[in-house]
Amino acid sequence: TCMSVVVSKASADEITVAKFGGTSVADYQAMMRCAHIIKNDSCNRVVVVSASAGVTNNLVRLSQENVPASEQKDIISAIANIQFAITQHLTCQASLDLEITELLEALAICAEKQAANFSVQNSDQILSFGEQLSSRIFAHVLQSIGVNGHYFDVRQVMKTDDLYGKAQVDLAQLAINAQALLLPKLADQVIVTQGFIGSDQQGNTTTLGRGGSDYSAALLAEALQASNLSIWTDVVGIFTTDPRITEQARSINEISFGEAAEMATFGAKILHPATLIPAMRQDIPVFVGSSKEPDAGGTRIQRHVESNPTYRSIALRREQTLVTVKSPQMLHASGFLAKVFTVLAKHQLSVDLITTSEISVALTFDNPHGSTQSLLTQAVVEELEQLCEVSVEHGLSLIAVIGNKIHGTKGVGSSIFDKVNDFNIRMICHGASNHNLCFLVPEADANQVVERLHETLFTQ
Ligand code: ADP
Ligand code: ASP
Ligand code: MG
Repeated sequence: TCMSVVVSKASADEITVAKFGGTSVADYQAMMRCAHIIKNDSCNRVVVVSASAGVTNNLVRLSQENVPASEQKDIISAIANIQFAITQHLTCQASLDLEITELLEALAICAEKQAANFSVQNSDQILSFGEQLSSRIFAHVLQSIGVNGHYFDVRQVMKTDDLYGKAQVDLAQLAINAQALLLPKLADQVIVTQGFIGSDQQGNTTTLGRGGSDYSAALLAEALQASNLSIWTDVVGIFTTDPRITEQARSINEISFGEAAEMATFGAKILHPATLIPAMRQDIPVFVGSSKEPDAGGTRIQRHVESNPTYRSIALRREQTLVTVKSPQMLHASGFLAKVFTVLAKHQLSVDLITTSEISVALTFDNPHGSTQSLLTQAVVEELEQLCEVSVEHGLSLIAVIGNKIHGTKGVGSSIFDKVNDFNIRMICHGASNHNLCFLVPEADANQVVERLHETLFTQ
């Protein structure tokens, strides 16, 4: 029954949650391809969409402080152009355009308010319009090919705290709400809802962090006890490394939850870092494939896999910041690191890599431009300076080699480092996880180091 086109009553164990990323809903043709993916498999009951490509970046700019009125106007019309270019292909264009126009007017009011009186709460409100727009449109695209698609406002179920920009989801509330408000609808409807956004206890809109739609989809799959999660993107699965870096990268058929989670955490942009946590909790297999080539296969992420190679993939995360804290007091003293971490925790900053020496500790942070989350700011640095000497370096990339038994296999160090010994490699972290070994390199060398490592570890 799973492959029939007719929308039939699905039992809970037949539910697939399907997520489409920004490029998959970028324009009419892309949305049509996604609509057919939904239509071709009646297990697809819940569709989670990102904002159309480019829209969230525009909204990030709009959400900042002091954006001049003329720029606000330009940004909103750029967004309008993207969306109306899609709606013009639909027979319901007139009524849908009214809905879109209303949303854009509401956005304009938020933008004006933001310029006059900035708040992080309003930032999240502004960021949420991308997904609100794309999900409304996608529901109509589904209807245009005979699928009973309905818009659903995810903020009714995705309840979070009020940490705007990277809100934490209340899993218990989500489960109750999803079972009560969402599950009954799945009997005869395909629900189209938003990734990335939620709402706090007061009903204010929140966001889960850039790239968060993958995570939203996984959370919904968990809450609905879905049997599958499909992440449809612009590449045919998870590759041995970012295919934009080397043509030699190839798609991985099968990968374990543990390895894929390390990849996501260490920056393979393909999945939001938290995506696999809900999937692992409920043991929901995840498929990653390309909405451009839905029949070209992809990657299955699951608990048990047939092969567990030492080297599975190489992940790269750019725009890392390295902070070295140095204190003579650290010598023979305890509690110094606790103080440092207290400051970081207060600012909700999470540390990725750590190395230590006699009187200093080096830490790395993800500090991407255009982030909606807490970043290492001057205020944090000043607070750390109350405790110790602080030096901050930018322009670094984090490279992670992901695989199995990395810390229990002889020769791993030389296989990796012998080939890149003409580069300045720093902060080597090896041993904390049997799935990865990672280090920093200067930004300018990053692609070359990844290419070189890929060549040695995967093509020989
Ligand atoms: P979406 O908008 O669908 O969420 P993203 O742009 O967030 O898509 O993620 C897909 C991109 O991730 C790919 O186009 C690719 O360049 C990048 N990427 C990074 N690492 C990998 C990898 N190991 N395998 C596949 N894609 C990767
Ligand atoms: N639209 C959001 C972003 O661009 C969320 C997502 O695409 O996953 O970050
Ligand atoms: Mg993404």
